[in-house]
Amino acid sequence: MSEPASNCRRAYDDALSLMRTVSDLTSAAALLGWDQETYMPPLAAQARAEQIATLNALAHSMMTDERAVRLAEYFERELHSSAEELTILETRIARVFARDVRRALKVPEEFVRRKSQVVVLAQEAWKEARARASFAKFYNDLRALVELSLHEAELRGYQGHPYNALVDLYEPGMTVETLDPLFDRLEQETLRILDYVKGLSPASNAAVPRVSSTGQEQLLAARTIVEAIGFNFSAGRVDISAHPFCTSLATSDVRLTTRTADDNPISCLLGLIHEAGHGLYEQGIDPTLERTFARDGASMGIHESQSLFWENIIARSEEFWEFALPIIERFIPQFPTMTPTMMFYALNRVEPSLIRIEADEVTYNLHIIIRYRIEKELMAGTLNVAEIPERWNVLVRELLGLDVPDDANGCLQDIHWSLGAFGYFPSYTLGKLYAAMFRSALLKAMPDTFDHVRRGEFAAICQWLKENIHHWGRTLCPLELVEQVTGRSLAEKDFLEYVWEKVMRVYPSS
Ligand SMILES: [Zn+2]
Repeated sequence: MSEPASNCRRAYDDALSLMRTVSDLTSAAALLGWDQETYMPPLAAQARAEQIATLNALAHSMMTDERAVRLAEYFERELHSSAEELTILETRIARVFARDVRRALKVPEEFVRRKSQVVVLAQEAWKEARARASFAKFYNDLRALVELSLHEAELRGYQGHPYNALVDLYEPGMTVETLDPLFDRLEQETLRILDYVKGLSPASNAAVPRVSSTGQEQLLAARTIVEAIGFNFSAGRVDISAHPFCTSLATSDVRLTTRTADDNPISCLLGLIHEAGHGLYEQGIDPTLERTFARDGASMGIHESQSLFWENIIARSEEFWEFALPIIERFIPQFPTMTPTMMFYALNRVEPSLIRIEADEVTYNLHIIIRYRIEKELMAGTLNVAEIPERWNVLVRELLGLDVPDDANGCLQDIHWSLGAFGYFPSYTLGKLYAAMFRSALLKAMPDTFDHVRRGEFAAICQWLKENIHHWGRTLCPLELVEQVTGRSLAEKDFLEYVWEKVMRVYPSS
């Protein structure tokens, strides 16, 4: 039996008040998390973990109580017929609400608490294991996390491969059936690029300058540059943390962090530009979505597309350095004389390496494909946890042509598994593919984009990103968003054209 359409507005308002409370709770938890990584005294860790767990548990129980379920059922039944009562954005917010309530219902609170306890211990074990390059020290925790993830996949349900249930958490709608052929083609073409590069010398031997500079100098230069790009410091801030990240408490309160390295101001700068890319996304979300479940990125991959757009497509272009070098020289006078062309060559070398986060734009995806294959095999039950190091080393030899000296430089290098985040890695490569597709669409709409970059004028670029991508928040799923912005389906073509162009310039064949 359906309720009269006039109830739709009332149901929406009811859902809105629930979403506001839940999102205030999760924003408060996020602020505690930000503080943990920036200013919290070390002895507070245990107390902080409990405070965050309590806020998250409260939010979870509100999202799964009778009122939430009733509203979710109502929207699932009625939304199509009463759309005229709600704006398009409100209709989409209501859909996100229903989807999130369904998702939360699939995982009992007891499971969420157990997983977070296992994760806290696993992180400590992983840190020690990595420091000692000893997989054995992480083995028990990792086995527990793999079992939890298998259990989670069963709880959430899936069609086809069990890995689909986990990928969907980070990339709604994405499946192994889509990823397998996509990653296969990407792998083949990446190996072809590596084959081409092998034996050729780069056009220039320019390297990223190492120069001693204070944290303050690096931070000021980086901050000035991301402010010029368009990050709004009246609605955000930047602090120092061990691992750079971006967290958003509201569209008017977006926190970035970065780290400084004594001799590498460019690394600090690129790190902050990456986080500012995430931050611009958060600041650009439509204010209507504030305090709703839709105030977030469309997916991890789309979020990553925004950080990588700025870090790679813009900041690794020659034009960018016409704008950025004078700023670096102003704040770090001891920075050696470099030309924009030298910076371009220095930042676009291609060379297989062991560590994912230090990889170049081309070989990076091979690191992701290695992790993707291992995670899929673990979830399919065709690989045991004990076999991970050997499998890892075989894949690194096969794809990157390198020997792994120890597990710290191999399967223990990433934090993700210790967080139980199986299914996350594909988002990084998807982010690269989305970013390249958005680049093509932007260049079509604004062919003189890189003249703007050269002059340090970023407003038009930011506006395009905001209107086409940021504005929508989570109201569109990633594949819908990509089609809407580019008129095409997700594919590797644009990314490959983009990297081939760079590779041919950095490694001329004659
Ligand atoms: Zn990122």
